[in-house]
Amino acid sequence: MSEPIKVKPLELNERIFEIEFDDGSKKLATINLVPGKKVYGERLYRIAGTEYREWIPYRSKLAGAIMKGIKAVPIKEGEKVLYLGAASGTTPSHISDIVGEKGIIYSVEFAPRVMREFLLVASDRKNLIPIMSDARKPQLYSHIVELVDIIYADVAQPEQASIVVENAKWFLKSRGKIFLAIKARSIDVTKEPTEVYKKEISILQENRFEIIDVVHLDPYDKDHAMVLASYEP
Ligand code: SAM
Repeated sequence: MSEPIKVKPLELNERIFEIEFDDGSKKLATINLVPGKKVYGERLYRIAGTEYREWIPYRSKLAGAIMKGIKAVPIKEGEKVLYLGAASGTTPSHISDIVGEKGIIYSVEFAPRVMREFLLVASDRKNLIPIMSDARKPQLYSHIVELVDIIYADVAQPEQASIVVENAKWFLKSRGKIFLAIKARSIDVTKEPTEVYKKEISILQENRFEIIDVVHLDPYDKDHAMVLASYEP
């Protein structure tokens, strides 16, 4: 079994790390906010007194986007995030490591089965706030969520861009950033993925978003792209 020999922060975000192993392989990782606890079967590594959690790009689209060279990951310690489509908490848990104890992640999910699993993760991580609600109706959770620095959306739904636009109007700070994971096939199965990406991106542009970068997530996730954009209302 390979052993970690070195760990260093990424240039694009000082709270995301690359671990290098003695066989030359490398893995993405974040510092575990809850030492000793795993969230989705990832491996834990203790290096120089700090525990890191590997961040698996085949399981998390944000890690996939980093592996595919996304230009920036502007999520900082202490920031507030609105996460749409939290599912069982895989990617939210790494964002929870990044923003740390002073940060907060309002996590919206409408499926009861995965929400039950999310609650187990959130019971260990006090910066994850579970919100059982429908991301298409931001007014339903407007009494809970405050202004946020980042919206991360991965709802695998038709009209993903419109869902983000609506949530941004309610909750995103001026010049705040969005990550939008576009699942081409869930929007229109009859269209080519690139055509679907273009349409979703144009919806963002028509609604005061400036596109910073778009990366296709294959081979980590087929038919998905990650869009990073800035809100300029
Ligand atoms: N983002 C998660 C991660 O990386 O760990 C995976 C998200 S999964 C692809 C999409 C999730 O969005 C599902 O759990 C689904 O129930 C949820 N979802 C879809 N439409 C939604 C809506 N309108 N409101 C809230 N959650 C929704």
